[in-house]
Amino acid sequence: MAAIFVYITHKNGTADDSAFELAAAAKALDAAAAPCAIVLGGTADVGQVAGQVAPYFSEVITIANDALQYPNAEVYRKALATILPAKSLLLLTHNSFSMDLAPGLSVKLDAAFASDVVGFEGIEGDTLKLVRQEHGGAVSSRSACGLANGAIISVRAGAFKPAEAGSQGAVVDKSTEVSDFSSKRSFVEVIAAEVGDIDITKSEILVAVGRGIEEEDNLAMVHELAAAMGADVACSRPVVDAKWLEKSRQVGTSGQTVSPKVYLALGISGSFQHMGGIKGSPFIVAVNKNKTAPIFQSADIGVVADILDFIPVLTEKINAGK
Ligand SMILES: Cc1cc2nc3c(=O)[nH]c(=O)nc-3n(C[C@H](O)[C@H](O)[C@H](O)COP(=O)(O)OP(=O)(O)OC[C@H]3O[C@@H](n4cnc5c(N)ncnc54)[C@H](O)[C@@H]3O)c2cc1C
Repeated sequence: MAAIFVYITHKNGTADDSAFELAAAAKALDAAAAPCAIVLGGTADVGQVAGQVAPYFSEVITIANDALQYPNAEVYRKALATILPAKSLLLLTHNSFSMDLAPGLSVKLDAAFASDVVGFEGIEGDTLKLVRQEHGGAVSSRSACGLANGAIISVRAGAFKPAEAGSQGAVVDKSTEVSDFSSKRSFVEVIAAEVGDIDITKSEILVAVGRGIEEEDNLAMVHELAAAMGADVACSRPVVDAKWLEKSRQVGTSGQTVSPKVYLALGISGSFQHMGGIKGSPFIVAVNKNKTAPIFQSADIGVVADILDFIPVLTEKINAGK
């Protein structure tokens, strides 16, 4: 089995939670493996991030250079191609940056590429069997990925439970091994995310509403339910696209990542982009009129009902019980 490496996503000196999920994914791939993390970034951040992930990996390779301070797939690709041994297996989180980075890296290394993987089903000879999802999570599909020349595999955030910390891995600085940081792209600016009136990342109870709410006027009943529950209101992307709620309330891969204790999803189908914004293991209650909606696969309690009927009744019962 080839050596397994994990590319660590980090921001402002903090490793993304997906780093610990990828440590578990590497073990799921090969329980006997001693996976190695790779941290690329600016000189100010890399050491701190390496320290955070070291207890989860046998070794952490760092490359620090100011040319790596902002994600530039062109430069990152060159650095990774320089340090990765031939026929390595590299796991990285499936996100917009890895979609830019990984396909070109696989071409550079002449390695296989599999994207948005949610599970592994073992290795037979030189072939890795893996699971992906189609049609917004409604269908799971099995694929195969050749490992003979190594492989680059992007893994969906949340697909693996985070690994437990183990013994501290050694941190190995390979900054001097990379010399080519040239790029046709240049950094322009960081545009900070819009700050809304409420920070749903801190909420303990979220009432999240999706396209199933049908009309903007129906949001009033969602706010009433949230008030009765002592919850904050969040939403899926179509609700933001319709300008019914502000972007800061959007949960998902292009919105906020939330970790409430309870997540009540009303009229939300459960696309992976939405579910990718829910971290940890909140108690998920899903209400949907379609009993085959993908969200029921993740829900602790599923209610098949029309939310326009269900919401006022639930609000009334909660208020009556106070
Ligand atoms: C690059 C990219 C990034 C994205 N990022 C995000 C993101 O961050 N967050 C996000 O949410 N999405 C994101 N999306 C969009 C995502 O793919 C889905 O389209 C979106 O999550 C669907 O939202 P929804 O579940 O509200 O709507 P739908 O998928 O349309 O589902 C509506 C659900 O409501 C149910 N329903 C309808 N009427 C009722 C009723 N009266 N009572 C009960 N149930 C009812 C339906 O059965 C259905 O399951 C992204 C997409 C892309 C391509």
